Amino acid sequence: MSGSETETQTEIPGLPARLYSASPSKLSMWLDCPRAYRMRYLDRPSPPGRAQRAHTSVGLVVHNVLRDFWDLPEHARTPDAVRELVRTSWIDVGFRDAEQSARWRARITDEVLDYLRESDRSTQPAGIERTVGLKTATLALTGRIDRLDDRDGELVVVDYKTSRRPLGRDDARTSLALAFYAQAVARLFRRACTRVELHHVPTGEVVAHEHTPESLERKAAEAESIGRDLRAADASYAELGVESPVFAPRPSALCRWCDYRQHCPEGQLMGPEQQSWAALEPQE
Ligand code: SF4
Repeated sequence: MSGSETETQTEIPGLPARLYSASPSKLSMWLDCPRAYRMRYLDRPSPPGRAQRAHTSVGLVVHNVLRDFWDLPEHARTPDAVRELVRTSWIDVGFRDAEQSARWRARITDEVLDYLRESDRSTQPAGIERTVGLKTATLALTGRIDRLDDRDGELVVVDYKTSRRPLGRDDARTSLALAFYAQAVARLFRRACTRVELHHVPTGEVVAHEHTPESLERKAAEAESIGRDLRAADASYAELGVESPVFAPRPSALCRWCDYRQHCPEGQLMGPEQQSWAALEPQE
């Protein structure tokens, strides 16, 4: 999160409204639960979150390995190099015990190897973990693209997914973040960028969507609409603090995973907290 994301962005009478700074995750947290948004972005000091879960550790490792892989010279992009990257990148946090951590390290090694076997390892991506920004009439969006491919002159946005949950057919089409990345890339490189892809590393499945100028405009309008709500919510917080009525809790199945559950009585009513490795081994 950038520092500008935490400041309350109020308007000054007589001056044009400042652009509202946000990331895709900030917008989506507001949609998921205004209470969680308040605790994450506005309350200071921020309530302490819970310890990192095992699936978060796995996600970070996979992203880091798939970043560092492309830094290797082409001749060094071997299975042994991938095994070594997973070994040295492994984050041993959130697992039940050392046996579970070791088992998942072996499994993730195999999944990343299988994923890379299906990739064109000889073509260097146009960008890896590239930070991009986009200004609209009211928003200043920033974010980071996992991978940007240049395939036969076409720029393609690639986002890695590491959840055990399979991808949905519409996930690439409906993603605000992917549409924003495509627009940001098009402006940055002054080239068309309409294709966005989700790569599900555990299975190798790719879910893609081809945007049109109209669909990108619709997504930008959607982001601006959320940004307007956030600007109003932030102003309400600046005036009323935690007494503001706009940060109502939104209890759902997500509450059992929420980092702020210990500070939220309504969320605690949704059932016991999930074990920190439950997203990897839900049957336990
Ligand atoms: S526990 Fe549920 S209702 Fe409470 S902040 Fe988290 S997501 Fe929102």
